[in-house]
Amino acid sequence: MLIADVIIDITLKQLDRIFQYIIPEKYEQAARCGMGVKVPFGNGNRITDGIIVGIGERTSYDPSKLKEISELNENAAVLDADLIELADFIRRRYGCTTNLALKTVLPVKHVVETKKSTRVILTADAGKLEEELFDQRKNRARMRFLRYMAKCREASKDDILRDCDIPLSTIRYFADKKIVEISDSVKYRNPAEDIGGDEIFGSGKIAPDQVQKQIIDDYLNNFKNGNRRPVLLHGVTGSGKTLVFLEIIEEVIKQGSQVIVLIPEISLTYQTVGRFKERFGDRVSVINSRLSQGERSDQYRRAKDGEIDIMIGPRSAVFTPFERLGLIIVDEEHDTSYNSDSTPKYHGIEVAEYRAKLNGAGLILASATPDIGTYTKALSGEYGLYTMTQRANNALMPQVSVVDLRSELSMGNRSIISEKLGNLMDEKLEKNEQVMLFINRRGYSGFVSCRSCGQALKCPHCDITLTYHSPERSEYDYTPEGKLVCHYCGFSMDAVDKCPECGSGFISTFGTGTQKLQRILEKRYPAKKILRMDADTTKNKGDYDKILKSFSAKEADILVGTQMIVKGHDFHNVTLVGIVAADMSLFEESYMAAERTFQLITQALGRAGRGDLAGDVVIQTYNPQHYSIACAAKGDYREFYNMEMKYRRSMAYPPSGHLCVVMIMSKDEEHAAQFSSLVFKGLKNQGKNIIGPVRASISRINDIYRDLLYIKSSDYEKLTESCRKIEDYLKSCIEKGYYKDVMVNYDFDPVRGY
Ligand code: ADP
Ligand code: ZN
Ligand code: ZN
Repeated sequence: MLIADVIIDITLKQLDRIFQYIIPEKYEQAARCGMGVKVPFGNGNRITDGIIVGIGERTSYDPSKLKEISELNENAAVLDADLIELADFIRRRYGCTTNLALKTVLPVKHVVETKKSTRVILTADAGKLEEELFDQRKNRARMRFLRYMAKCREASKDDILRDCDIPLSTIRYFADKKIVEISDSVKYRNPAEDIGGDEIFGSGKIAPDQVQKQIIDDYLNNFKNGNRRPVLLHGVTGSGKTLVFLEIIEEVIKQGSQVIVLIPEISLTYQTVGRFKERFGDRVSVINSRLSQGERSDQYRRAKDGEIDIMIGPRSAVFTPFERLGLIIVDEEHDTSYNSDSTPKYHGIEVAEYRAKLNGAGLILASATPDIGTYTKALSGEYGLYTMTQRANNALMPQVSVVDLRSELSMGNRSIISEKLGNLMDEKLEKNEQVMLFINRRGYSGFVSCRSCGQALKCPHCDITLTYHSPERSEYDYTPEGKLVCHYCGFSMDAVDKCPECGSGFISTFGTGTQKLQRILEKRYPAKKILRMDADTTKNKGDYDKILKSFSAKEADILVGTQMIVKGHDFHNVTLVGIVAADMSLFEESYMAAERTFQLITQALGRAGRGDLAGDVVIQTYNPQHYSIACAAKGDYREFYNMEMKYRRSMAYPPSGHLCVVMIMSKDEEHAAQFSSLVFKGLKNQGKNIIGPVRASISRINDIYRDLLYIKSSDYEKLTESCRKIEDYLKSCIEKGYYKDVMVNYDFDPVRGY
């Protein structure tokens, strides 16, 4: 008799354990780990979905009491043993249920045949859709459908019905209103198909230069000798990292292996994907968040069936079910989009590393501004390190000037455009060259700083910027009646009306929006065309590419944008990049603030002078002396790294120590607060380094209250141990009938503030 270990697809933490079922004889041959099953569950024997995670002949229960599996879904997405092991790693390391971990690695819940199905296509334009969204705002089912269509534009009817959980009549309703069109038997298209063949990708193959060749040869040499030590490719912007990937991939594929290439979602543009398409044609597939479940499952099926060799995608592509995985490449490895922002809050790089190890695959992490933790590993020899210090094709690094906005203010210039930036803009625009202006929107609303001395108000206990909490709903308007709160330790003080450092009254929350900047520029250059790229102007699929294409075709003179515009695009006519307020990210309420600032400035610098024309960069800041800004301006990563490590060591922040943010949530404000203090006292009594409880900066979302605890330890395992204790404690409370409404989740070494 064969017995299956089954994880039941129910999110309740009390049920997060293995249940055993007898495998009926008719399924004995077919049953495998990772297959979906239907099983009778609970007292009522309700038929419930589950996943087989183990098969054996023994059980510690009375076999006569075991129930039988009702149905085996032989076609359902089968998880390979290594992906199940990866799920287990995620469960252990990031503290979540097995069920959630399995869902995370499972590419799609259901496999659907998309080829034959009826398609639903969005036909309304953006304006009409907006109107409709507004009109239907009270009808949840219709809203779900509209949002879904806004994202996908086109999907199969079956996908929509399932994903949105709506009746067919909802689709018909919108078809009648001409918002969507229902069409039969449209063949599924490969999302990578409409990319490529564009002349912008150049003609033919570029040969690697000396530096690139050395790296490629050395890596492949090690690879062929079975050396799978992960490597960091640290190359300045424009050094030609992509060509290094392409050459290495070609060789790895020749040996019969498959390759995953991770790219930040935002960089999945026609430019980047095009380079891969040009070289590898149909053997490449792409996934992105805009694909429907059906399209996604189709891509994963092609991967599993070996129809493709390369999968390009954002962090979830690390779970591509390749059977002959040989290499994982992570471009822009420092990017925070590799860290999941929903439970389990896994770190894509760690998961990639674990998967590579499981599959005996190589791992290449690449960046112009490596993550501090990654670089530390490279220095210690845990990772190999390749460095590219020059731009490819003899292109020069841009000429950088740093403008001190404090002296602009004292000279009477209160505009957000300094004299230097203004003059250079006049000059470049006169010559019909293009300009990019970059506003860093991170930390836009939260922190308070002085416009005279540049100081931001910091927590006396944590060296983290204090966050402004307004007394009422007036979010951005600074008033001394508000509070300044530290999100790390809960320290709180009344807002001030004078700078504690210099006494100036020019103190307030900080920030200029892209929209405001656009208006200022329109006044200054009435004859010039200005494009804006931010969250507002990129709501619809295709907006992003449209703006980039238009700018790249020189249909506009100035591109204004948030950090979206700093990611890897090549604009050959851009000769000036202005960073309007470089310090904004410096005051993010996170220990990574300086690292983010260095990264953003460096990436922005990388946009200037990519063609034959020399480039200029102007960095405007209130903190020209801050090492993140000074080092970025000099292009000195090593010095930045050394300074930053001093800070991390002194505060025992990662990678020198570890930190876990525990978020305790409940619909009941009291319950969240009580449970938080119980956990705090319990762990404190056991000698844990724990701070809090403190309200999250968004203290309530969807009527769920959110409290935070911070646990610190030099030992990661000790942190996961504390989290297990919290889980056990919550379970025991719930069994006794308390805190049934309380939920807890964990964020280890968080990259985002709370
Ligand atoms: P990175 O990703 O390191 O910022 P890219 O891979 O985008 O840099 O390359 C920057 C530019 O240099 C691209 O336009 C690319 O085509 C060009 N390039 C790269 N390698 C070479 C080479 N060996 N010869 C000529 N041009 C190259
Ligand atoms: Zn001051
Ligand atoms: Zn503090």
